[in-house]
Amino acid sequence: MKVKGIAAFALGVALILSGCGGESSGIGGSGGTEACEHVWGTWTEETAPTCTEEGVEKRTCPKCGKEERQKTPAAGHAWGTWQEKKAPTCTAKGTQERECSVCHKKEEKDVEAIGHADGVWDSDGEGHWKKCPVCGETLTEKEPHTAEDGECTVCGGEALGLAYAVYEKECHVIGIGTESGDIVIPATYCGKPVTEIAESAFSYEGITSVVIPDSVVYIRETAFYQCSALRRVKLGSSVKEIGEQAFNWDRALSEVELNASLEKIGKGAFCHCTFTEIKLPSSLQSIGQEAFYSAALQTVTVPASVTEFGDRIFYQCKSLQSVRFEKGVKEIPDDACYGCQLLTSVSLPDGLETIGGRALGNCPALSQISIPSSVRTIGEGAFEYTGITEVAVPDTVETLGSAAFYNCKSLTRAVIGNGVTSIGAMGKTSDVGAFEGCALLNDLTIGSGVKSIAQRSFRGCELLVKITFRGSTDGWKGIEKEKDWGPSKKQMGWWAPVLSAVVCNNGALTGDDIG
Ligand SMILES: [Zn+2]
Ligand SMILES: [Zn+2]
Ligand SMILES: [Zn+2]
Ligand SMILES: [Zn+2]
Repeated sequence: MKVKGIAAFALGVALILSGCGGESSGIGGSGGTEACEHVWGTWTEETAPTCTEEGVEKRTCPKCGKEERQKTPAAGHAWGTWQEKKAPTCTAKGTQERECSVCHKKEEKDVEAIGHADGVWDSDGEGHWKKCPVCGETLTEKEPHTAEDGECTVCGGEALGLAYAVYEKECHVIGIGTESGDIVIPATYCGKPVTEIAESAFSYEGITSVVIPDSVVYIRETAFYQCSALRRVKLGSSVKEIGEQAFNWDRALSEVELNASLEKIGKGAFCHCTFTEIKLPSSLQSIGQEAFYSAALQTVTVPASVTEFGDRIFYQCKSLQSVRFEKGVKEIPDDACYGCQLLTSVSLPDGLETIGGRALGNCPALSQISIPSSVRTIGEGAFEYTGITEVAVPDTVETLGSAAFYNCKSLTRAVIGNGVTSIGAMGKTSDVGAFEGCALLNDLTIGSGVKSIAQRSFRGCELLVKITFRGSTDGWKGIEKEKDWGPSKKQMGWWAPVLSAVVCNNGALTGDDIG
C-alpha cells in the first residue's frame, strides 16, 4: 500500500504524487497503477508561503486525477525603512530599527559613535582647556592662563586670582592678577606647589595683608616693595630667604611674623617699615645691608646664629630703644645702630670680637655700655656722639679706632686696657681723635701696652689735667706721640694744652717730661 503523500504532509515536505505509469519527479510515491499520459493543469497555491516559510502549490492531471505538489519559496520580509531607535552620541553607538510590514518582525542594527566635534575653549579662574561643544566633555589638560592683567591671551577668558608662572614642577606668584586687599597665597596652583613670590610680584600694589603658604621658599627681591597699605605679613614655615628690598617702603607694615627656618634677610628688606618688634628666628644666618634701615623697631634681639652682616642694619631706627646681640654673635657691623636717637640699652655678648665703625655712633641716649672681654677691635667712631658716661676698654682690645669716643660729651671716666697698642691711627692727619671733644673727661687710665697715641686723640678734653698710666715713667716716655695728641682746650682760636701730670706706676711726670 502506498502512503500517497501522507508522509509528505506530515513532514511538511512537498510531494510529487505520481499516478501515471510510475513517472515521478521528486520524492513521494507513485499514484495510480495504470500508465497515463498526464495532462497537467496549472499550478495552484495550496499553502501560501509566509515571510520565512515556503508554501506549497499543486497541479492535477484531469485524466487520472494524479496530483503533483511543489514548494514555493518563502516570501521574505517586507522591510520598512530604518528608523532611529537610539541616537548615537560623541562616544556611544546608537541603534536603528526596521519592521516587516507583513509579519511585524523587528530588526536592529548599531550606528557608529559620531566622535567629538572640534574643541572650543572653556576656562575657570585658574586656567583653560578645550571641550567638545556637543557633549561638553573636556578634551585637553587644564593649562594656566597666560595673563597678568585679568584677560588670557590664549582663551580670552578672565584670569581670576593671582598671576602665576607655571614651571614643570612648581609655580611662582608673579603678580596680583585680579586680587586685592587681603591676600592669601595658595600652596598649590594647577596642581603644583607655589614655591616663590617672584621679583616685584606685588610691588606698588595696594594690598593690605598677605599670608604666605608653607610651600613658599623664596620671597624674591622687591616682591612687596612700596606696598604702602600693607599692614600684616605672615610667612609660611618654609621661607628661607627674603630678598633685597622685599618689603622696603612698606610704611604701614606694623605686623610681621617670620618663620622659624628663615635663613636670610636681604639687603634693605624691611627699610622704613613700621613694626615696633620683630622676632628674628634662631635659624637666621644673614642680615643684609640696611635690612631695617629707618624702621620703627623699638626692641630687637639678634640671634646667635647670625654670622653674616651687612652694614647699617639698624641705621637710623629712630624709635629703637633696646638691642640685644645674643651670645655667639662675633661682630657688630659698621654703622649697625648709627643714629638711633632713643637707643638706651645695648647688650653686647661675651665672645664678641669686633665692634664695627660707627656701630653705635650718634646714639645720644646711650649712657651705659659694657664692652665684653673678648673684643679685639673697636672700629672708627664706634661710640662717637653717644651719651656714655664711663667706659672700660678691656685688655683684649688691640685696636682703638680713630674717633672711637669722639664727642662723647657726657664721658667722665675711661679706662683703656693693657692690650691696646695704638690710640687712634698714626699718620692720618685728617682723622678725628679717639677721645676728641670729650669735654667732661677727667679720669683717664691708659694701659701699659700703648705704643702710640695719634694726633688729636684728646683734643678738647679740657678737664683732663691728669692721666694715669699703668706703665713706668720710662714706658710713658717711650710711647710715640703725634703732635697735638694731648688734652687741650680751645683758646683764642688755638688748642692750648691742659695736661699737667701723668701718674705712672713708679712716679709722676710733669711739664716737658710728659711729652
Ligand atoms: Zn494522469
Ligand atoms: Zn515578515
Ligand atoms: Zn563630544
Ligand atoms: Zn586662558
